[in-house]
Order: sequence, then structure tokens, then C-alpha cells
Amino acid sequence: MSADTYTFSADIQQLMGLIINTFYTNKEIFLRELISNASDALDKIRYKSITGHPVDHEPNFRIRIIPDKTNNTLTIWDTGIGMTKQELINNLGTIAKSGTKAFMEALQSGADISMIGQFGVGFYSAFLVADKVVVISKSDDDPVQHRWESTAGGTFTVVDDSSNPDQLARGSKIILHLKSDNLEFLEERKIKDIIKKHSEFIGFPIELQVEKTNEKEVSDDEEEPEKKDMDIEKKDEVDIKEEKEEKKEKKKKKKVKEVTTEFEQINKNKPIWMRKPETVTKEEYASFYKSLTNDWEDHLAVKHFSVEGQLEFKSILFVPRRAPFDLFESKRKKNNIKLYVRRVFIMDDCEELIPEYLGFIKGVVDSEDLPLNISREFLQQNKILKVIKKNIVKKCLELFGEIAENAEDYKKFYEQFSKNIKLGIHEDHANREKLAEFLRFYTSKSGDEMISLKDYIGRMKENQKDIYFITGESKQAVANSPFIETLKKKGYEVIFMVDPIDEYVVQQLKEFQGKKLKNCTKEGLDLENDEEEKKKLEEQKAAFEGLCKLIKEILGDKVEKVVVGSRISESPCVLVTGEYGWSANMERIMKAQALRDATMSTYMVSKKTMEVNPNHSIMIELKKRADKDKSDKTVKDLIWLLFETALLTSGFSLEEPSLFAGRIHRMIKLGLSIEDDKIDEELPPLVQESNENAQPSKMEEVD
Ligand code: ADP
Repeated sequence: MSADTYTFSADIQQLMGLIINTFYTNKEIFLRELISNASDALDKIRYKSITGHPVDHEPNFRIRIIPDKTNNTLTIWDTGIGMTKQELINNLGTIAKSGTKAFMEALQSGADISMIGQFGVGFYSAFLVADKVVVISKSDDDPVQHRWESTAGGTFTVVDDSSNPDQLARGSKIILHLKSDNLEFLEERKIKDIIKKHSEFIGFPIELQVEKTNEKEVSDDEEEPEKKDMDIEKKDEVDIKEEKEEKKEKKKKKKVKEVTTEFEQINKNKPIWMRKPETVTKEEYASFYKSLTNDWEDHLAVKHFSVEGQLEFKSILFVPRRAPFDLFESKRKKNNIKLYVRRVFIMDDCEELIPEYLGFIKGVVDSEDLPLNISREFLQQNKILKVIKKNIVKKCLELFGEIAENAEDYKKFYEQFSKNIKLGIHEDHANREKLAEFLRFYTSKSGDEMISLKDYIGRMKENQKDIYFITGESKQAVANSPFIETLKKKGYEVIFMVDPIDEYVVQQLKEFQGKKLKNCTKEGLDLENDEEEKKKLEEQKAAFEGLCKLIKEILGDKVEKVVVGSRISESPCVLVTGEYGWSANMERIMKAQALRDATMSTYMVSKKTMEVNPNHSIMIELKKRADKDKSDKTVKDLIWLLFETALLTSGFSLEEPSLFAGRIHRMIKLGLSIEDDKIDEELPPLVQESNENAQPSKMEEVD
């Protein structure tokens, strides 16, 4: 039968080129990858079998490894689900996965080839040791078996393999024609070591074909059984003739070496989660974790537990050291917990097992109560699963608590998974308070260390009621924000929330341990703690009523209202937003997200309140002028300038930067005493003619 030739997808070609040409010493990982694929294929057929698919034609579920020193091939043979012709073409060459590119990028930035399995392209690691790879596969969905073959070089062939005397009942054989400098992978010792190291916890028997040499003694002219018969019949005679016989035997017998092959099972351990936690070593957890996840690094933390009582299950949960490359991609598999029922693997993408925000947790759950032939629909409203899920979340939170006991570990954890914790606060109402304990932030007082909300409360000032925070684009931007001037002056600590997701966190997290969380950029920040301060503010409010009204008139619908406030001490004014509306930072985030969708823009404008600092020299002077003459054009122009400056310092963006620039340029001209001959009708000069002499001092004030 003639073979059809196919071209590998461009990405896969590139990947294979890298695998073949990169100098790499840790080649042994190819075996882990192929065994892992075999195990996945077996998982699939076992699951199908418990849901009714017949497997009588190949009842064994196992992986066999066959080294052949005569032909220099190593074969990995599984009785798994197999592949149809089309699957061979798609899975092994023409359809590139997102991981292909991601893996190559990772390699370029210093990642290691052994990470290949994490990116879902483990099969191609075969080319680390082989210059020709043959895959013979038989699926129950295809009447005949097919043979896939490639020597790399951009193409592969697939051919009907029904004429092969070696017919598979079901499953796949991956035959590696080893490169001449990789023949060590045919050695029994070496293969055993690699399997022990990387694949010990595979849930199917891995059987290695080994050679047994038996030394057999055979006499030259007699066959063994005959001799036995003689021994029995003529027992007495033998006794008598003992000496004579011995001599005779020595003369007649010789030693013959007999080489036979047999299969020896390499992985004999019972599932690690069935053992008592005290009997499992750290190394065993690490090696189980690696075999489960294809990770090349140890886990960061582990929790091994069993739940008994009304319902019974055992579980091991791991926190990895790094977030996967596609953690927040929508197409990504949503969880990494393998579900077993009484030791039988059921599925590894059961969404009811763990909430999405904990999607980075890896592990196994083995239930004693679920039926074996569960359908997905059944899982969705299954009460047992709901209880299991609740327990898993609880244990994950305990596990995070344990990580937090070691500051260095927790730092690593938080760098990788803070977004998940924050997502959890947004989504998991029941565990919100507990999850909030795991938050860490920089603050106006924390320097280079991040602190928890508990730490914050522990060092709150005596008269401080609320937890103050500010959201913004960066640590630097918020550290110098006018919104926190008074708070800093009063010695209050302010939490810096500079991760976009923080805005979503504070939408849900209104309180922590009985203390309200207050956004410094929003209305409702009550900073007066004594009567005297309150009284003073009331007086100032009354005194500035006229100016506030005038500002509102001038700015029109750009602001909701204009009020006297106390949160600023060095700046003349700021723009705060409504307590329940979007902050300036949220507006910025939403604008960035909704760029594609112009219709969104009308909803995006936050309602702004201008808060005026009654103690600021600019405001005092403005008030004087406004009191004297409400229609003072300079006042109008300065108010616009103040508004636009406040937009910037409050974290908004300018709608018309050129108008703002025009006003600034006129100020610069004023500062340089340049006379402008063109008088703009729309924008009157900054100072009136009569005040020209006072220019320098005016400029200082504006500064
Ligand atoms: P991954 O296994 O991570 O998906 P691979 O590149 O290792 O990526 O394999 C690609 C695909 O080829 C697998 O998803 C699977 O569908 C198929 N495959 C590989 N090996 C086998 C096998 N031994 N039996 C059946 N299918 C296999």
C-alpha cells in the first residue's frame, strides 16, 4: 500500500528543528513523555470501558517497553485508546497547539527542553534520541491499523498497515530508531532507572522486556526428564552406585546458557494517595507531583488528606512553584485535579471539583462514593461532588496558610498566584474574609515589604476608624497622589492598590475584620476626628460657598458638584468620584479594555466632585477675587486650568489636551513676560492688564 506524505505544520517543523539541533544532555525525558502519553491513552480507554464500550478484544491495560539491541530500536507499546488514521495525521503533525509556539518562546528565554510536557507537545521529544520514529496505532474507531513514520525533515507518512503480521488489537506502538550515540537507552539498567525516576507513579503497569539468562546443565547424550525417571525407579541402585554415578555425570554433563525474554513490572507501588501521609517522603511527593504534572521543578507545597464519615475520599493537592504559561487564557483546561473513583481514573477536567480561581492547584481526588460510570450531566448536580469541592477549597486555604508561615515561600507564592487569590475574593463569597487574609500590599509606610491587612490593622493609629487605600496605575503614582496628603500628614498608613484586579477586589471586599475599607479617591472619606476640626471645616464650607458655586457654574457638567474638603493639604483641589461609582483608576482600566468597543465610552465617565482645599493660597486668592467680581475672566481661566490639572493629578485623562496646553503656554509667556498680540476670544488672558506688575508673584502662586 502506498504511503501518503504529509507536511508538518510550520510551528511543529520549527519545534522539531530545535529538538534535533539543540545540544541537550538530559535526553532521557523522552521516555517520561511517551509513557505519559501511553498512560493518557489508557486512561481514555478505561473511562470508555466503564461507560459501556467493549474492551474484550484487548482486556489488558498496560504499557510495555521493548528494547531491541539487534535493530537498535526502543518500542513503547500501550493498549490504550489508539489513533485512527485521521487522528494520527492531526495529532502527530498537522495541527499545532498553542503550546508549540509558547514552548519555543520559553526555550528562547532560557527554559529547558525538559519542560516540553507542560506545553502539550511531549511526543516530539522522541526526536531527542531517535532519527526515525514509527507509530503503529489501532483505534476501535478505525477498521485497520495505520503506520505513521517520520525521519523529521518536514514531512511524515501515514499508510494502511493491515498487511503487517504484527497486528494490534487496540493501542499504539511507538518505535524509536535510536541515533547511534543514544544506544544507552537500550540498556536494562538505564531504562529501569529512568522509569523509577520519572514514571514511578503511573497508574498502569509498566512492563520492561528483560533478558533472563539461565544456566542449564545438560548431559551430552541424555535428556533431563529421562534422567529423572531413572532416578525414581532405581533409587536404591543409585544410592549404591553413588560414587560411580557422580563420576559419570561429570564426564557427561555440560553447562548451556539459555537466554529467554520476559516482562518485568517496574512500577509496583500502590497509589501514593492511598498510603498514610506519615509514610510518604518528601522525595516521593515530589516525584509523584512531577509525574502528575510534567513539571520539571518540585512543588511549592503539598496537602495530603482523607475525609471520612458521611462521605469518603482521599486527596493530594499541590501548589506549583510557577503559574502555567496560559493561566488566564480562556481556552485553557480549567482544572488540574484528576478524579478517581475507587482507584480508577475517571477524568481530569471535572469542573465541579474546584472553583476556577483555584485552577492552578494540581492533584488527585479518589472518591469511594461516586459510581464508576458517571456522566458529565450527573456530575453537574451531584451532591457528593459539591461536598468534595467544599472540602478541597477548605484544604487549599489551609495550605496557603501553611505557605504563609514561611515568608520567602509566601513571597514566591504571591508573585505567581496573587491574581488567583484576588479573583477568589471577587467570586467566592463564602471564603472572602479568609482569602482576604492572604492579600499583601505595599503601603505608604511599608517600604519594600508587602504587608497583610492584619498587619495593617495591627498598626492602625489609636483614633483611626477605617482602613485607607488608594487605587492607581503604579506604586509611584499613588505614593505622591494628592488624595493621601492629609492622611500622610496625620500619620495614617495608606494601602497602595496598583494591580488592575484590585479594583474588582474592593468592589466586593468592603470590610475586613470589622473595619471598613475606604478608597481615598472617593467621596465619603471622613477625616475629622475631633469637634474642633469639624467646626473649622463647617466654617470654611460656609466661607467658600460662593467660590464653590462659581466653580460649578464655570465647569458646568464636567463636575457633579464642588465642595470644600480636607483630604488634601498641599494641593489646591482634587477630583473625587462617587463612593459607589468607578474610581479614576477603574475608568482608566475600563477604557483600556473597551478600546475596541466605542459604544462603551458613554458609560465610562465617572461622576466627579471637585474637592477644594480651603487652606491653600491659590484657593484663598481665588476666593478673594471671586468675591470681588464674579465675572473676573482670569478667575474663569484659572478655574479651568485648576480643573484640568486636577484631572491629571487625580488619575483621569484630559479630554482636550491642546486646550490645556494652550492655557499653559499662555502662562509660560506670562512668566517670560512675552506680550501676546493675538487675543483669544475664547480664552481670555490669564491676568488682567492692571495686574501686569504682579506677574512674577502670580506665577509663584500657580506653581
Ligand atoms: P499531549 O499528550 O500533551 O497532548 P503530545 O504532543 O505528547 O501532546 O501528543 C499529541 C496528541 O497525540 C495527544 O494529545 C494524543 O491525542 C495523541 N497521542 C500521543 N501519544 C498517543 C498514544 N500513545 N496513544 C494515543 N494517542 C496518543
